[in-house]
Amino acid sequence: MNRRPSGILARAAQAAVIVSVVVARIASPADGSADRVERVTVRRDGVTKALEGKVVVEAVDGGILLERPDTALELLRPQAIVRREPLAGGGEPAGGLDAAAVGRRILAELPDGFELFSTKHYCICHDTSRPYAQWCGAVFERLHDAFTNYWSRAGLPLAAADRPLVVVIFSSQERYLAHARPVLGEAADRVAGYYDLMSNRVITYDLTGSDAVRGEGLRGGAGRPGAKLAALASPAASGLVATLVHEATHQMAFNSGMHRRLAPVPLWASEGVAIYFETPDLGSSQGWRKIGLVNEPRLAHWQKSFQPGDVAKLVADDAAFRRADSGVDAYAAAWAMTYFLVQTRRGEFVEYLRLLGAKEPLAEDSAESRREDFRAAFGVGPEEIEPAFLRFMGRLRDR
Ligand SMILES: [Zn+2]
Repeated sequence: MNRRPSGILARAAQAAVIVSVVVARIASPADGSADRVERVTVRRDGVTKALEGKVVVEAVDGGILLERPDTALELLRPQAIVRREPLAGGGEPAGGLDAAAVGRRILAELPDGFELFSTKHYCICHDTSRPYAQWCGAVFERLHDAFTNYWSRAGLPLAAADRPLVVVIFSSQERYLAHARPVLGEAADRVAGYYDLMSNRVITYDLTGSDAVRGEGLRGGAGRPGAKLAALASPAASGLVATLVHEATHQMAFNSGMHRRLAPVPLWASEGVAIYFETPDLGSSQGWRKIGLVNEPRLAHWQKSFQPGDVAKLVADDAAFRRADSGVDAYAAAWAMTYFLVQTRRGEFVEYLRLLGAKEPLAEDSAESRREDFRAAFGVGPEEIEPAFLRFMGRLRDR
């Protein structure tokens, strides 16, 4: 268990919302054995309930970060905590929950009409058609294996998630927005899905119902079985499928030990990894197959928006991601930096990911320590690497 200063939970609660808007990050059960399992009785808004889970972090003011058996995180303010009791034998969370148990709990929270579809690593809760849930399951499983194999070959063996990864798919954008708007605000309207680092779930909707895809489906013969799903491999759908893969990549990264939820992982790195994996492949019937293709839309955007000194800025802090006027530029730069480093300095990049993976939930990092981590992994500071980065990106443009 890790002690943190007072007030950290309030700041984290704020950060969690921001992070989920910018789209995602999550973590691993890395130091599970040291964590204590407790039953914590809380009283909020006049309602008292008992929550069981692993105490991941404890602030000195008595606030707690609790990980529930379904892997959702709860930030419990000291004022809300009525009683804490250790659970003998580790309680339920120690053994984890199987897919069916996780699914039953989630179904109980969702509106009526949801069903479960389980794959090897995922628990998919959907009120869509079963073929759509199957299509998503196949994409996610492919990503799961590709992600694991890719990093293992690169020298970063990842831990297998000990519990099913949860995906919630709404049948329509309208139903999705009713769920997503309270979390994301207006940003919900602009994204086809998101990874919620507190609940540890990917939330999305049936993309074949979106206007872009529906048009493609009709052209392909709407009455033909599978026409709607085939339309997901169309250029019109590529951005939507990329979003889905991007969010699923965040979920993988935060559940495989690559990063830990609520740890101070620089956004350029967590977003860079997700964007590196998102490149859709329109030659595949599933709309996604390959990792690390040149991300043409991000490259085009980066070429328009790059400013000297950007590398050092993004390494030092995440502010550019959070400003409306620079968020898209920061994502493009995160992709470009990650692409450059993975292509030219893969071993060092893996070393950097290892440093980031050791960061603990709710720990704090300064701009200086972020620069030191970069220097420790790459042997040079971000300012010094920028000329090589620009030469590499110039060759990419001229290819
Ligand atoms: Zn993201």
